[in-house]
Amino acid sequence: TPAIEAVSLTKEYDNGRGCRNVTITVGKGEAFGFLGPNGAGKSTFVKMLVGLIHPTAGSATLFGHKIGTLEAKGQMGYLPELYRYQEWLTGEEVVRLHARLCRIERSVADKRIPELLQEVGIGQRGKDRVKHYSKGMQQRLGLACALVNDPAILFLDEPSSAMDPIGRKEVRSLLEKLKGRGITIFLNSHLLGDVESLCDRMALLNNGEILRHGKVNEILNKR
Ligand code: ADP
Ligand code: ADP
Repeated sequence: TPAIEAVSLTKEYDNGRGCRNVTITVGKGEAFGFLGPNGAGKSTFVKMLVGLIHPTAGSATLFGHKIGTLEAKGQMGYLPELYRYQEWLTGEEVVRLHARLCRIERSVADKRIPELLQEVGIGQRGKDRVKHYSKGMQQRLGLACALVNDPAILFLDEPSSAMDPIGRKEVRSLLEKLKGRGITIFLNSHLLGDVESLCDRMALLNNGEILRHGKVNEILNKR
């Protein structure tokens, strides 16, 4: 079974916008890029896959489980585009709350949380309040939260937007590392460079519709 199978997946908002007829398959362990300008429909598509909004037509599965079901949600981690953290909490506390939401046992969480913070590169700052984190650090904290349930697939919505070049590079290398470990990655981005450096296959989205999809190097050479 593929990691993602979407068939004519469609969300039409009341104003007629959204994303239409998206049909894609993403294999296990693949890094897939969803490239398009702002307003193309990338977030709308991912929100359907993670179960945040209902499609108005079409269907999709994650590892064979219908989207929106607990089985599908249990497989995934999601880093939304705009994540507001409770700034009075420490980074460690934020991840701990996520671990509780995922019903991860305390003893497991005690071991896992410091490892995760270390892995995303904020291990030294776990006891600092989020208030004092830079945007890049907040993004990495978001990744730690998304990874807390050891997901088979990770959805990333514009992970490096609003970040400076250094933060962007750090997030990129972290994603490379995760990919190397076999986790499936679905990356929304308006940055060609992000998709090009990480992804094997991609879809080009504009105005809610897929213009092309296939191997990254083939699509980019055709431009
Ligand atoms: P992207 O993630 O590529 O920037 P979005 O999925 O956020 O694109 O938006 C796709 C289109 O749908 C845009 O035209 C946007 O204005 C519109 N849109 C997004 N969310 C809503 C909503 N809740 N209600 C109405 N229109 C929306
Ligand atoms: P749902 O489709 O789940 O009911 P809503 O339509 O209430 O969601 O809106 C979801 C989010 O999208 C809200 O944060 C809302 O402010 C935002 N939104 C609403 N209309 C638009 C739009 N035209 N373009 C972009 N975002 C929008």
